[in-house]
Amino acid sequence: MTCGGWIGAVLAALVSLTGIPVAAQQAADAHSPEAGGAGALAISPGVAAALDAKADGRPVAARDWMLSVANPHAARAGARVLSSGGTAADAMVAVQAMLGLVEPQSSGLGGGAFLLWYDAQSGTLSTLDGRETAPMAATPRLFLGTDGTPLGFFEAVVGGLSVGTPGVPALMQAAHDRWGRLPWAGLFADAADLAERGFVVSPRLAGLVARDTDRLSVHPETAAYFLPGGAPLAAGDRLRNPAYARLLRVVARQGAGAVYSGPVAGDIVAAVRGAARPGLLSRRDLEIYKVKQRAPVCAPYRGHRVCGMGPPSSGGLTVAQTLRLLEGYDLAAMGPRSPRAWRLIGDASRLAFADRGLYMADSDFVPVPVKGLLAPDYIARRARLLTGEVALAEVAPGRPAFDHAGRRGPGETLTQPATSHISIVDSYGNALSMTSSIENAFGSRVMVRGMLLNNQLTDFSFRSHRDGRPIANAVAPGKRPRSSMAPTIVLRDGAPVLVLGSPGGSRIIGYVAQALIAHLDWGMNVQQAAAMGHLVNRFGAFDVERGTGAEALSGALTDLGYEVARRAMTSGLHMVAITPEGLRGGADPRREGVALGE
Ligand code: GLU
Repeated sequence: MTCGGWIGAVLAALVSLTGIPVAAQQAADAHSPEAGGAGALAISPGVAAALDAKADGRPVAARDWMLSVANPHAARAGARVLSSGGTAADAMVAVQAMLGLVEPQSSGLGGGAFLLWYDAQSGTLSTLDGRETAPMAATPRLFLGTDGTPLGFFEAVVGGLSVGTPGVPALMQAAHDRWGRLPWAGLFADAADLAERGFVVSPRLAGLVARDTDRLSVHPETAAYFLPGGAPLAAGDRLRNPAYARLLRVVARQGAGAVYSGPVAGDIVAAVRGAARPGLLSRRDLEIYKVKQRAPVCAPYRGHRVCGMGPPSSGGLTVAQTLRLLEGYDLAAMGPRSPRAWRLIGDASRLAFADRGLYMADSDFVPVPVKGLLAPDYIARRARLLTGEVALAEVAPGRPAFDHAGRRGPGETLTQPATSHISIVDSYGNALSMTSSIENAFGSRVMVRGMLLNNQLTDFSFRSHRDGRPIANAVAPGKRPRSSMAPTIVLRDGAPVLVLGSPGGSRIIGYVAQALIAHLDWGMNVQQAAAMGHLVNRFGAFDVERGTGAEALSGALTDLGYEVARRAMTSGLHMVAITPEGLRGGADPRREGVALGE
């Protein structure tokens, strides 16, 4: 099947199976190397309309509910739930079950996630932390070789050593227990049926498999699935996953607990311990796993409250710090093409990343100065560093008020993007923002019962100390690795107005901050904000997205003193705005995502 055939088939299926009009789709992965553009494809009228909308930067409009997620099958599964009276929590369960099948490289039941929930009835915002945990047998030396030096990134990733206790099944259950309305078991039916019938491999999945054949061939179950008969899956192939269908049916019947004890847990532990680089996960680690409900991290910005995920994610705090440092500058007047605006955004982000490296980690294990990092006097002190005219020559962490003294060494954590973001607003007015991940593309490459296990433990610092000081994000038993995931909900007068998030490793922070500025300062709608070319500065060099309008700023940024790196940047921003005129959805054109609403 051609790419066009694939897109057409999926969209035709969406319309015919659901009866839900496909208001728009973003099936083309126009910017990433692994998938061709959709422009030249033979397309149905519905797709043509959607592609026109995308090309024009028009968002999808709806009145009752809206979701924006990374794959059309997953959008359809969620849309069915929402259109039959389900809540955003119900829809998330159906979406996540489906993403584990059709976007297995990015997220699934073998991974972890963070979820923000705005509850319309109580008017409150809370978060659920379903991050993976390190095994109780892990030590700070987990990723050090026998000579005491850190393992290479992929040496650590591939195999059992990198696998943390999965949090996604427990998170799905916890969200459904609190906020679900429809029966749990029914939410898995679409994904289980499709897993049995088989789905058409998308160009994006095929491209990622082709680039990863060496690593996917290490473990027999993984190789048999992604490299059947030794050859990588091709776009258009029909892929069945009966083991995953059976797993979903067990979870549907018995609840998420079935993953954490009994035969499924036994199989997970056996796979990790029998993997190429055996890991330490035990049945006990699975039994004691807990989702944690935590307060969101919120910060004022332009009359809004921008709320995100606090530790163990660095996402909410680093986005909030970046925005707070910029609040004193009139970015709206400068506009999106202004080198001055980008100098300010770039250096605000660098200042926030310097603090992130030193202070942010799992606050259940190390003291993190959450309040101090956002305290107005501290922000004002740091913002004074931005008053010059050119790039800051050097950026160092600040000294926020710290209620438990802790002098630590700056950590460095490597991360490679493979994650998925889910934004949903339901007909009851609840809003859900969830970023879900197995860390690297295809995670640890260990597959069990049709699901890939995460490599999230490589989000810890491989080194435990620097210059004789402990690193906040070092490995410890039961600890959760620091994340960059930044599921976000923006409130105005206490009610949600914007739901967003993205994959992208530590660039997530820049993608989300930029989308917020694009929407709130520059007045872009959610589709324009999701599609805009990226400029991201984490550690000093400016990453400028290749092949986009962002490149026009390269010369000016070089003149301001930055090293500029042009590169592909595969974000996956999924956004829903709640406006007085109704709901508006945008899906990142760089991935296969789609916004659907009614
Ligand atoms: N593992 C990363 C994190 O939690 C996310 C990776 C990605 O976005 O692809 O920060």
